[in-house]
Amino acid sequence: MSGEVKGLRPIKIEDLLQRTVYDVDEEPHIEIIDERGVPKELVKLCPCSCYSMVGERLLYSYEGCLECGLCRVLSEPWGLRWEYPKSGRGVQYRFT
Ligand code: SF4
Repeated sequence: MSGEVKGLRPIKIEDLLQRTVYDVDEEPHIEIIDERGVPKELVKLCPCSCYSMVGERLLYSYEGCLECGLCRVLSEPWGLRWEYPKSGRGVQYRFT
């Protein structure tokens, strides 16, 4: 038993991400409100390296965000504003 579903072919996540395109919204859908409520581990945990440390400051960029929601889940509600980009904007996954 290979774990494959009949009729579906397996795909590597790297291949899937190469097909991913972004329609970046000029208005950020993520905003750090208070750094103390955002874990610095996101530098290592964010799947697309949106977070980085510059000295003691936690910086982020939203342009390459995969909208996985991990930073929203791990941050305090008062630390981060996180919304989906406007309809039709943001990440667009290609599955074929
Ligand atoms: S939602 Fe996911 S991909 Fe986007 S910045 Fe947060 S952790 Fe990174």
